[in-house]
Amino acid sequence: MPSIPQRYRAIMRPAAAAMEPYDPQAADVRINLSANENTHGLAPSLRLAVDRALAKVATNRYPDPLAGDLRAAIAQVEGVDPAWVIVGNGGDELIFNLFLAFCDDGSRVLTCPPTFAVYGIYAELVGAQVVEVPRDPKTFEVRAREVVEAAASARVVCLTSPNNPTGTLVDPALVREVCAACPGIVLADEAYMEFAPAGSSARPLLNDCDNLVILHTFSKAYCLAGARVGYVLANPGIISALAAVRQPYSVSSLDQAAALAVMGRRDAMAPVITSIVDQRELVREELAKLPGATVWPSAANFLFVRLPHAHEVWERLRDEHSILVRDFSANPACPDCLRITVGTPGENAAVIKALSQLVKE
Ligand SMILES: *Cc1c(COP(=O)(O)O)cnc(C)c1O
Repeated sequence: MPSIPQRYRAIMRPAAAAMEPYDPQAADVRINLSANENTHGLAPSLRLAVDRALAKVATNRYPDPLAGDLRAAIAQVEGVDPAWVIVGNGGDELIFNLFLAFCDDGSRVLTCPPTFAVYGIYAELVGAQVVEVPRDPKTFEVRAREVVEAAASARVVCLTSPNNPTGTLVDPALVREVCAACPGIVLADEAYMEFAPAGSSARPLLNDCDNLVILHTFSKAYCLAGARVGYVLANPGIISALAAVRQPYSVSSLDQAAALAVMGRRDAMAPVITSIVDQRELVREELAKLPGATVWPSAANFLFVRLPHAHEVWERLRDEHSILVRDFSANPACPDCLRITVGTPGENAAVIKALSQLVKE
């Protein structure tokens, strides 16, 4: 994607003019373990249910703006009233809308790098100031005291649990503390929570913390990255604020129908999720055996690993083995680190085999 010509940059909002077009760097590879998707795909019975639901959608009509049926199904699964739920065009739209609704020029958005880059980009787009409280560089745990302290002057605090790209959890007790310290909103981004041990979620805090926003997505565990559906659980007052700024038809009827079909058959997803969690631990043991490797514990569907000459290894994985993982080696918060999505047993074996070969050379 070409850069923005000066002719147009000159007449853009300064915050937007400072951006570059997103370059997905999509490579045509045999095994893609770069985006934390569920590489198993939908089980045939689920795929059939989705296809049947899609066939019934009246595409000539606008979608239900608040996705009533899907919202009710999510509310039931999460054990909340539907007033505590809002659906978005992927989690990304909900993050953007959260900043749009709650941030003004100069509002502070607190992040804990290395973390999901989207927070920083969207925060800057709406004119907010990003305040970083870096994680402990050895463990990638959030620095609890510093976060609580900085939360006191933040409009939005982003706590990602499990964190992308490190797989680290945030203790719900710390989320509670940050909610108490923060006059603004606390975002608990739980995009990968389906892969984490029971009891890891901030969900039980919703009733006590009226500034807590919990984010979920259908893109990771639920195999619907292509459909673009996410949701937020929060106090109904926050849901109203998000509903006020959203584009009414941002979630298409097709996407709503697909997500509803999957939500209604969540139990059928459980074996795949369990298998990914088991595979994660196996891949972790194998990665740890690579000479010079450090691999961190992960509660998500990916592993974060530090390897000597990581960038070169990443390139050769792609070019010689047609395997794509995510390269974080240029990020000063995590030098020489790669993020590897846990895929099918066959994909995992292939990436381990290729890595063992490469690090020997
Ligand atoms: C993938 C991801 C999301 C949301 O992704 P969508 O596909 O937009 O739903 C949100 N937060 C984190 C940390 C993620 O990794």
